[in-house]
Amino acid sequence: MMRLETAEGPITLNLQRGALSLHLYGREVLAYDRAGRLWSATLGEITYRRGLDNRVQAIRTTPDGVRRWWLEREEIRRLEDRLAGQLQALERLLSRGSFRWITPPADEQIWQEALSTLRRASRMDFQALEADARRFAEVYAPIGILPPDQYLSLVVQATIGCPFNTCIFCGFYRSLPFRVRSPEDFEAHLKAIREFFGDGLWMRRTIFLGSANALAIPMPRLMALLDRLRRIFPVRADREGDGFAGIYAFLDGFTGLKKTVADYEQLRALGLRRVYIGLESGHEPLLTFLRKPATAEQMIETVRRLKAAGLQVGVIVMIGVGGDRFAPGHVEDTLAVLQAMPLGRGDLVYLSDFVEIPGTPYRAQAEALGIRSLSPAERVAQAQAIRAGLRRADGEGPRVAPYALEAFLY
Ligand code: SF4
Repeated sequence: MMRLETAEGPITLNLQRGALSLHLYGREVLAYDRAGRLWSATLGEITYRRGLDNRVQAIRTTPDGVRRWWLEREEIRRLEDRLAGQLQALERLLSRGSFRWITPPADEQIWQEALSTLRRASRMDFQALEADARRFAEVYAPIGILPPDQYLSLVVQATIGCPFNTCIFCGFYRSLPFRVRSPEDFEAHLKAIREFFGDGLWMRRTIFLGSANALAIPMPRLMALLDRLRRIFPVRADREGDGFAGIYAFLDGFTGLKKTVADYEQLRALGLRRVYIGLESGHEPLLTFLRKPATAEQMIETVRRLKAAGLQVGVIVMIGVGGDRFAPGHVEDTLAVLQAMPLGRGDLVYLSDFVEIPGTPYRAQAEALGIRSLSPAERVAQAQAIRAGLRRADGEGPRVAPYALEAFLY
C-alpha cells in the first residue's frame, strides 16, 4: 500500500499481483487489472462495474435497497474516456515526482510496476476497451452465468452450452449447440485465454470449468482436459503457494450420478474444490413442470457422492418459481431435500430470486396453468422460511446467501 499527497489531495495505490486499485482524493476508487482494463469505479454514490465484453453496470445503494442499471453505449464512452484522461494526467504528475510521500513503496520496483500499470490503464479509453472486448468475444463463447462467489474466477470452457436445454425458465445456452472440446482444441483455447488476460491474469484467483455442465464429461476425456488445464494454469495444492486456488464447476444431478465417489476423489486430487448444483426446487411436481433433467432424489445422491469425496457443494434454489400454485410444496419439499443432503460448513445454499428470462417458455406455460407470480413480500417470506429451516443450533450448517442473477457480469 502506497500513500502520497498531491496538490489535489491524497492518493492511495494498492498494487497486487493481478490488480491495481487507486483511492483518489477521498472521492473516487478505481480498480484495474494489471493489463490496464477497468474493472470498477466508484464515483460518489455510484459504483460502475465493467465486464470484459465492455458492458457497464451501475449500482447505487439507497436506504430502499440496491438499484442496478446498464449504461448506454454513449454513457460508457463518456465514462471510460473520462477515466482514461484522468489517469493520463495523474500518470504525468506522478512520473514528474510532483507529490509528497506519506507511505512510500517497499522498494523502487513496486513503484515502477504501479506506474507502468497506471500507464497501461491510461491508454485504455473507450476505443481500446471496445477492441479488447472484441478479442474477448473471439476467445470465449458467451458466458451465461456463474455462481456469485466465482465472478472473479478464470473461466475456461471445456464444454460449450448445455447438453439438456430443456428447462423452461433457462435462456442461457439456447442458441448454443452443446459440444465438448477436444484436448487439442481445449489447449488452444487455454493459450488464447492466457494471452488475452496477459498481466491481468492473476486478478483471477480460481478456475471455473465451464460451461453449464463440464463435469458431465466422461472421466477419461475429462482427465485429459484437466491435464492440459493444469499444465497451462497451475492449481496449488494448499491455501498457500503459487497457482490458482482450486477448480470450480456446475454439475446437474442427473449426470452427476454417472461418476462414482472414487471418480470425484480423483477430481479433488486434481484441484476440484466445489461443485454447484441447480436444485431449483425439491418439489417433484414443480421440477417436472420446469422440465429439469434430474429428480430431487438424484440430486441428493449426487451431493452425497460429492461430499463423500471431500468436495464442497453449492446448491441453488429458486425463490418464487412456480408462483402461487407450487409455493407450499416448493418450500416444504425443498427444505426436506436440503436437509437430506449432507451439507455443512464450507457448503453454500444460494437463494436465487426467480427472474423470467424473455424468450423462454416459462411465461406461456405458467399462464396456461393459471399460475400467479408471487409478490415481492411473498418471495421474501419464502426465502425466510427456507433460511429458518436450514438454521442449525450448532452453527455447522451451510452458509445461505442470495444469488442475484441481474448482478452477473464477467
Ligand atoms: S440444465 Fe442448467 S443450463 Fe441446462 S437448461 Fe437446465 S438450467 Fe439451463
